[in-house]
Amino acid sequence: MRILVVEDEKRLARAIARGLEDHGFAVELAHDGLTGLWKGREQGFDAIVLDIMLPELSGYEICKRLRAEGFWAPILMLTAKDGEYDEADALDLGADDYLRKPFSYVVLVARLNALLRRGAPTRPSELVVGDLALDPGRRTVRRGDVPIELTRREFSLLEYLMRSAGQTRSKLEILDHVWGADFDRGDNVVEVYVGYLRRKIDQPFGTATITTVRGHGYLVQLDDG
Ligand code: CA
Repeated sequence: MRILVVEDEKRLARAIARGLEDHGFAVELAHDGLTGLWKGREQGFDAIVLDIMLPELSGYEICKRLRAEGFWAPILMLTAKDGEYDEADALDLGADDYLRKPFSYVVLVARLNALLRRGAPTRPSELVVGDLALDPGRRTVRRGDVPIELTRREFSLLEYLMRSAGQTRSKLEILDHVWGADFDRGDNVVEVYVGYLRRKIDQPFGTATITTVRGHGYLVQLDDG
């Protein structure tokens, strides 16, 4: 198993590396935040051990960015008791576990092994209708090989309709799920946004993914072929 250790205190980083290597892990080190982010992105690690206070980019920021980019391998954060942040923040930002400094290598190895056994959290799977694919984890949409840029609201609307593919959704249901229950329902905002979506995901491609079901609502067919 290949582990990336991002830790700016070089002696500690080397000690962690030795501790892990003794237990059969292959270890790569990064001593600042940007290098950590770059290596984490590029090099396919099975897990990352991430310090929080780092030069250039904090461990929190690295964790947040990697998760936003669809990195789903386990991340174990090293926290300091008197640090600016606490452990709850680490878990909120997408870390799988944390270890408070100072820690013993036996505990570090045990925690890492537990995370690796548990496996990466299941990556939210892509929603696919015909050649239209929406990735909830990476927040991307593409038609075939063509990436499509959507606003946050357009994305939520399309995600909701694709998750309910094969079922007609009423405007009220759509408002509840995409805009939230307290939205002013006097508006024909759903129609307007379905129009925006069609101009991006259908019209340029000559497809008709979103069907209007008169008197009922909208439907994404299971296959828009
Ligand atoms: Ca540090």
